[in-house]
Amino acid sequence: MKKKVDIAGINFSPVRYDDVLTAVEVFVRQEKTQHTIFTPNPEMLVNANKNPDFQKTLNSASLLIPDGIGILWAAHYLSLPKAGNRVLEWFRLWGSLFKVVIRSKKIYEILPERVTGTDTLFKIVDKSQEKKWRIYLLGAAPGVANEAINQLLKKYPKATFAGGFAGDPSEALEGEIVDRINRATPDILFVAYGSPAQEEWITRNLKKMQTVKVALGVGGAIDFAAGRIKRSPTLMRKLGLEWLWRLFRQPKRIKRIWTATVVFVRLIASLKGSEVSDE
Ligand code: UDP
Repeated sequence: MKKKVDIAGINFSPVRYDDVLTAVEVFVRQEKTQHTIFTPNPEMLVNANKNPDFQKTLNSASLLIPDGIGILWAAHYLSLPKAGNRVLEWFRLWGSLFKVVIRSKKIYEILPERVTGTDTLFKIVDKSQEKKWRIYLLGAAPGVANEAINQLLKKYPKATFAGGFAGDPSEALEGEIVDRINRATPDILFVAYGSPAQEEWITRNLKKMQTVKVALGVGGAIDFAAGRIKRSPTLMRKLGLEWLWRLFRQPKRIKRIWTATVVFVRLIASLKGSEVSDE
């Protein structure tokens, strides 16, 4: 696998969807090892920057995939040489953000593709039809995981679901959830408890579920798969405006979106700007 890309202390793998599927195939085949795949987005990077334990949890993953165009932008911007003074650096920053708007190829030079948790789930379920992987969906509101399984089976009729359960990420319920999953013997486990709960849950419990070869933290993916939340139109997704769509659909996310845009850009700018001299 290619060299990892460090963004604000988080080690991303420069992967496309195909690479993730290949990695999953290798991971499932390895009998004695278990693997995690996390999907950090800009909001998670901001949070990890304030929380060293969460940063450590993320970096313990076998694969960290860039879930958000903002991550690709950050990789590009941080790779640019320093401008030398604040004014030029400011232009460089805005220029790089403009490249995101016009979808310049430059944005994809360091991290080649935006790889979302939701599309990764769909693609793994699709591939599982041929590979006979057993899949478990954990998280989201009660009933939603099973609704997602029904929807997914319509699209991927040969997929095998070992089970689906909402549960919750509290430590009190862990034992029961682990027992359920062990009875279901899945190869691949998707956990949708939001961040950092899902990554922490996986890190605490993976070893207790020996049939699970790959565990993924996937945020709202089970809601999307169930059709509970409509995804943005393809064009908006292509333009990297999925966050704007989510703002309209779920206005209470405004604080989270602020973190994922303004606070994130400031964080990345400060990482570079901190080394910019005033001369
Ligand atoms: N969730 C849950 N239990 C909790 C907290 C969250 O099942 O105690 C689920 C919630 O229902 C949703 C997912 O975790 O399905 C988090 O989705 P969110 O939209 O926050 O994730 P994103 O895609 O933004 O990372």
